[in-house]
Amino acid sequence: MSNKKKLRKYIFIVGGVLSGVGKGVSSASIGAIMKAKGLRVTSLKIDPYINVDAGTMNPTEHGEVFVTDDGDETDQDMGNYERFLDEDLNSENYMTTGRVYLTVIENERTMKYKGKCVEVVPHIPEEVIRRIKDASEKHDADITIIEVGGTLGEYQNLLFLEAARMMKLKDPTGVAFVLVSYLPIPSHLGEMKTKPTQHASRSLNSAGINADFIIARGKEALDKPRREKLAIFCNVPADHCISAPDVPSIYEIPLLLDKEDIGNKILKVLALKSRPSNLTAWKNLNKKIADGKKEVKIAVVGKYFGTGNFTLADSYISVIESIKHACWWNGVKPVLDWVDSEEFEKNKSKIKDLKKYDGILVPGGFGTRGVEGIISAINFARVNKVPYFGLCYGMQLASIEFVRNVLGKKDAHTVEVNAETKNPVIHINPKQADNVRKNRYGGTMRLGAYDCILKKGSKTQKAYGVDKVSERHRHRYEFNNDYREACDKAGLKVVGVNPESDLVEIVELSNHPFFVGVQFHPEFKSRPMRPQPLFREFIRVAAK
Ligand code: GLN
Repeated sequence: MSNKKKLRKYIFIVGGVLSGVGKGVSSASIGAIMKAKGLRVTSLKIDPYINVDAGTMNPTEHGEVFVTDDGDETDQDMGNYERFLDEDLNSENYMTTGRVYLTVIENERTMKYKGKCVEVVPHIPEEVIRRIKDASEKHDADITIIEVGGTLGEYQNLLFLEAARMMKLKDPTGVAFVLVSYLPIPSHLGEMKTKPTQHASRSLNSAGINADFIIARGKEALDKPRREKLAIFCNVPADHCISAPDVPSIYEIPLLLDKEDIGNKILKVLALKSRPSNLTAWKNLNKKIADGKKEVKIAVVGKYFGTGNFTLADSYISVIESIKHACWWNGVKPVLDWVDSEEFEKNKSKIKDLKKYDGILVPGGFGTRGVEGIISAINFARVNKVPYFGLCYGMQLASIEFVRNVLGKKDAHTVEVNAETKNPVIHINPKQADNVRKNRYGGTMRLGAYDCILKKGSKTQKAYGVDKVSERHRHRYEFNNDYREACDKAGLKVVGVNPESDLVEIVELSNHPFFVGVQFHPEFKSRPMRPQPLFREFIRVAAK
């Protein structure tokens, strides 16, 4: 290594007007473009909540809890970064207000401030900066992208903006600011309005920051008069106002932003030379997406959250993306339906509706509601030989269905739902039971990457093409090894086991085209250009 100190550059992404306008995907896409320019990139997500991690937040409110290799429970945007950058991120890539305060308070308690008065400013922003630089160093990044969660004007993100401002003051060409904002087209006017973005920009100014770029999100492309208006009122050069209209697939966005040459324009602000972007892989991916014409219908069966399909989509974003990646890989078009398992409890004959699907998937979940309906759906898939893929709870409930209906132990259950069952196929270890008893819920599940040894010759092993894999976990309960032999003998084979703990990680039915349950969450490791092998195989069989 040369002794020359690496120039590390930072891009802050902030959001204006609304949440959910695509700040995460914009951050991820800028990352993908920088990577396509041959630069080393890492990304951070800042969640302004007091929660120490996303693990204690309701996924219907906050979206999916994305789990990293090192077992951090983070924001769903981290999944976008991993998918777009095709890099693994860890806990250094995620922070919350709670986490930052916790460190500062711990430092105070251990006299790290040497008797000084510990103040919100500068000590909180200084800790934020330390964390950003730590992530940049750990990933040896040329470019570090930091997405500040929430929307400008919110009380909660001020301290993070303060950190960004302090970094810019110290190193004016080391830091760039991108404002991702929304430009509405009110239907009664039929015209795109810039005013909300002007306000967002003023609000950013009041934190001492001027945007270098505006990504103008909206239903339509930004036209010339509005581009000029934004430039004048927001104090951003017109060619730095980047048009980002809605597109059918998020995977088009790196190409869309690259067309506006956003990468080189940012490099210029950061006093770096421009470089070409090699986006061939992204172009090929988009071609595959467009080419897949044959539909594959997948039923995602689970309890209905009662907050509408939009929320569901966010709660299971990695599962949805994984199904899509696998479909595109197999040259088919994904069609997903959310199927509310409680419908099968209310009306037993409804189960026949599942006939119209090429595959059934049960994602992770918690609690009692809808469980019997899910078990009926799994029974339907097993008996009718419909391809089935069970993720975490989907594996546990598949094992229960088998013990109930094949081994004839009708009261088989998970102790999560029935603590008194005589046949606890899914049980809890004493340490975990103690956590639950003492309300120690935060960060105490079996979390993060664990190795899994695959049984040679199994369908699962053939799909992976290797003998040992590592997958990410997030659960409290486990397959009870007392049932292992009986299941195995009767045809539900244990084909994946953790070598250290001997815990069952994968089960697979022998006389079925595809019936696989995994104790882990394979959806966290699927990438658009490298689908997760079991998803790929599930879709391949479903498409037949
Ligand atoms: N509720 C189950 C457990 O905690 C499954 C969790 C999940 O599906 N993520 O073990």
